[in-house]
Amino acid sequence: MTDMKDMNDLKEMKDVNDCIFCNIASGEMDVPLVYEDELVVAFDDVSPQAPVHTLIVPKQHVASLNDDPDPALLAAVFGAAREVARLKGIADSGYRLVQNNGADAGQTVHHLHVHVLGGAELSVQMS
Ligand code: 5GP
Ligand code: ZN
Repeated sequence: MTDMKDMNDLKEMKDVNDCIFCNIASGEMDVPLVYEDELVVAFDDVSPQAPVHTLIVPKQHVASLNDDPDPALLAAVFGAAREVARLKGIADSGYRLVQNNGADAGQTVHHLHVHVLGGAELSVQMS
């Protein structure tokens, strides 16, 4: 009999294989990286909504904040966002972090990520 753990392992394997950000983070999909460390990668959004629009993506597959990611992973994501802002030259001019979870927020890629937006004055509208 297949137990729940095996079922969860199988589901996670399927999620990871189907996941575009897992494919980018593993290097399987060749995308130029803006930043990389042990826990995260960063690359420019394919459909930028600001002069700087970079995504911070954990190497580990986590679908959303609801999946209770390790606090150390979240700290790494925020640290990487700060570093990307510095590398992109927008640390002082200002930047916005956006992180969408679920349908109402319009999350389209179900692998946790933070958008780093900047390089111009951004809309004051948040929703
Ligand atoms: P979400 O709406 O889930 O917060 O954001 C997903 C983001 O991923 C979107 O801004 C979209 O343009 C970006 N994106 C989706 N597929 C790819 C891809 O294959 N490569 C890159 N670089 N960005 C992607
Ligand atoms: Zn993934």
